[in-house]
Amino acid sequence: MKSGVPARALARLRAARGFVFDLDGTLVLGDKSNDGFRALPGALEFTQLLAARQVPFVVLTNGTVRTPEQIAAKLRAMGFPIEDRMMLTPASIAADYFLRRGIRRILVLGGEGIIGPLADAGLEPVLPRDRRRDVEAVFIGWFREFGISDLESACDAVWGGARMFAASLAPFYATSEGRALGTSRAIAAMITSLTGKRATVLGKPVLHALRVAAARIGISPKALAVVGDDPALEVPMAHRGGALAVAVHTGVGGAEAFQALAAGARPHVSVRDMAELGQLYGAGSALNSSISVSISMKRKPKLRTSSAR
Ligand SMILES: [Mg+2]
Repeated sequence: MKSGVPARALARLRAARGFVFDLDGTLVLGDKSNDGFRALPGALEFTQLLAARQVPFVVLTNGTVRTPEQIAAKLRAMGFPIEDRMMLTPASIAADYFLRRGIRRILVLGGEGIIGPLADAGLEPVLPRDRRRDVEAVFIGWFREFGISDLESACDAVWGGARMFAASLAPFYATSEGRALGTSRAIAAMITSLTGKRATVLGKPVLHALRVAAARIGISPKALAVVGDDPALEVPMAHRGGALAVAVHTGVGGAEAFQALAAGARPHVSVRDMAELGQLYGAGSALNSSISVSISMKRKPKLRTSSAR
C-alpha cells in the first residue's frame, strides 16, 4: 500500500500491543458546552476492530468536566467498545499521583468530574467555599463557573504552602464549533500571576499520564501507539515514553502543524483521520496479530515480568 508512512513506523503500528487514544478531535467532536458528541470518521470502526482482535486500548482525555465513568457511558452509547476502567482523565492521573505521594486533602477548582475520582480513590476533595486553610494541594480543571472568591481561596492555599496542579495547560481543545478555551490554563495563569508559583501538569503531555495509561493496559509504554490531534500533547508524550506517536488531522492540528515540529519531535505516523489509520492498520495487522500472539505465548513469563510495575 502506498501511504507515505515509513515502513518501520507501519510495522510498529501493526505490532502495537495496545493503543492510547485522545478523545476530542481524535475519536469524537463535541460542542463547546462539552455535549453533542459525534464520532469522527473511522473511529468507531477502528476501536471495534481492536476489540475484535483483543488489542487493548485506553482513552485518555485532558477534559475534566465529566467523570471517567460518565464519559465511558456516553462512548458506549455511541458504539465504542470501552469499559469504565479504560477511560482516563487527568483526575484519574491526579488520584494516582496524590496517593503515591501521600497528598490527601486537595482544593478542587472544578466540578464533579474531578471531585468524583478523587473521592473514589479515598482522597479528600475540598471546595473553595469551604475556605479550608489545611489543604496540601490545589487541583485546577474544567471550571467555567470560576469566580474571584475561588481565586482568593486558591491563592490563600498556595500562600499557605499547598502545591498547585493543573489538569492541562493546553490553551485550546477541539470542538465541532472550532477551538474552545482550556479553562485550567487560564485559571492557573491567574494564580501564578498572584503567587509566583507555577502549576505542575498531571494530564497530557506528562510522562506520568502515559505511565498510568500503560499500567491500566498492563504493558510497557514502549509497546503502545498513542493517537492524538494536538501537536503539543499526545505526540510529545508518546516520544517521552518511547511509544509510537500517531497524529490525526481532525482536531486542533492540521498536517502542517505536525510537520512544523522539530525533526525528532514529529509523529512517526501522520494521517488524515481514524479511517486512514484503520486502513493502514487493517491492511497488515491480521497476520501480525497472529504472529504476536504466538510470540507472547512463547515468552509469557518474561513479558509478565516486564509489565509488572
Ligand atoms: Mg484532542
